[in-house]
Amino acid sequence: MNDFEPGRPVLLRGGTVLPMDDARSVLPGTDVLVLDDRIAEVGRDLVAPEGAAVVDASDGIVMPGMIDTHRHMWQTAMRGYGADWTLTQYFVWYYLEHGKNFRPQDIHAGNTLAAIEALDAGVTTCVDWSHGLQTVDHADAAVDALRSVPGRFVLAYGNLQQPPAVWSGAPEFRDFVNRRITGDDLLGFQLAFDVTGDPSFPEKPAFEVARDLGVAVTTHAGVWGATSDDGIRLMYDNGFMTPSNIYVHCASLSADCYHRIAATGGAISVATESEQSAGQGYPPTWAIRAHRIPVSLSMDTSVWWSGDLFSAMRSTLGADRSREHLEAQAKGDTVTHSSLRADQVVEWATRGGAAALGRSDIGSLAVGRKADVVLIKNEHSPVSFPVLNVYGHVAFQAQRGDVHTVLVNGRVVKHDGRLVGIDLAAARREVEETVEYLRATLGEEEWRKGMNPDIPESKVLDNPYQYTDYQSSATRSGATAEA
Ligand SMILES: [Zn+2]
Repeated sequence: MNDFEPGRPVLLRGGTVLPMDDARSVLPGTDVLVLDDRIAEVGRDLVAPEGAAVVDASDGIVMPGMIDTHRHMWQTAMRGYGADWTLTQYFVWYYLEHGKNFRPQDIHAGNTLAAIEALDAGVTTCVDWSHGLQTVDHADAAVDALRSVPGRFVLAYGNLQQPPAVWSGAPEFRDFVNRRITGDDLLGFQLAFDVTGDPSFPEKPAFEVARDLGVAVTTHAGVWGATSDDGIRLMYDNGFMTPSNIYVHCASLSADCYHRIAATGGAISVATESEQSAGQGYPPTWAIRAHRIPVSLSMDTSVWWSGDLFSAMRSTLGADRSREHLEAQAKGDTVTHSSLRADQVVEWATRGGAAALGRSDIGSLAVGRKADVVLIKNEHSPVSFPVLNVYGHVAFQAQRGDVHTVLVNGRVVKHDGRLVGIDLAAARREVEETVEYLRATLGEEEWRKGMNPDIPESKVLDNPYQYTDYQSSATRSGATAEA
């Protein structure tokens, strides 16, 4: 018998609960009771209803499921391939050269693996920023994959092969929306496209489609070399900046654009690891905090890094504090107290994502909310104790391997560190087929070249202290010192 049949009550017993309320409470020794798809009670010594599955949460941390507001899930089929890319190389590979090779089954393979990965890491809601949908068959495959995994997803429909006005105006797109987007709260819907800054504003009809459908638009804004202030001004001047917009990155925008975003109520999705490696601009939380713009976190794409919001919290704290120190030290000052705190990034990873999606029923643990719950607990890990600063523990000590139990919509999808009712072997076979197909399509040389971009020439600087035959490890490994 399956211990966690859907519909069975679940009692998480005796954990340290982070409800993510306004007070940022920490509730030690507290139980969380889940009935159907909702949180029924939060409190001490709750009575387990008859037939309830009881999960021992002692020595663990119980928090809301995390929410990723921007992930190109189809790209997970190429996991890690672009580890050494810049954004330019990413654009060349996907937009210009090889994105068009992806078939519907390849979209399905990437989405399935990304969806499973999300659940495993405690990400209970993930926005699939799905810009590989070059036909409606690709879109059907994307939805089939999301529907096959018991998580909460938002399909952000996009197509990097066509201008947004073209694909969003096609009758088959409307037909797809009517067929597949049914208002079910496990599958939300957005439109995903970028605003180039062309003064004729060719994206206007796509914004009108979104308005007509009553759905949000998510857009990569403030991406160095790709999208700029011009796009934000066009959106503003044409009345398309609304509270439902999600602006991704916003790492190279002027203060004027931040003012416009703050004034019109949208949210920014910060993908710190992406901004650090790819080059959209400096991860912007240090700047947008000052504008009171709502923040959510995202991983962007697993072609570089894994879909792990622990990593997002950690890197965001680091990048924000780095910048604060750098700005102060440039003026000869010393930061003695950090502005960004651990509890804030935990909030961005949970409630921040819920707010960006316009949902008050997820992202926090309170009676009546949807039961999207994560238990962090790992009795085999020396990093699991002592838990002194609970938010600090989540942000800087815990990691995805410590995700013990995950519930989505009241259903247990992971328990005791193992996924429940998920066929990982089937997902692996699908991804292997996709990799094999793409590798054969590209040819060995192109495949290798894509994964190994040239390294710019660099020379080791003259070192006035180098007066012996001693060679540093950098020199030994191949670089040559100047004579
Ligand atoms: Zn992106």
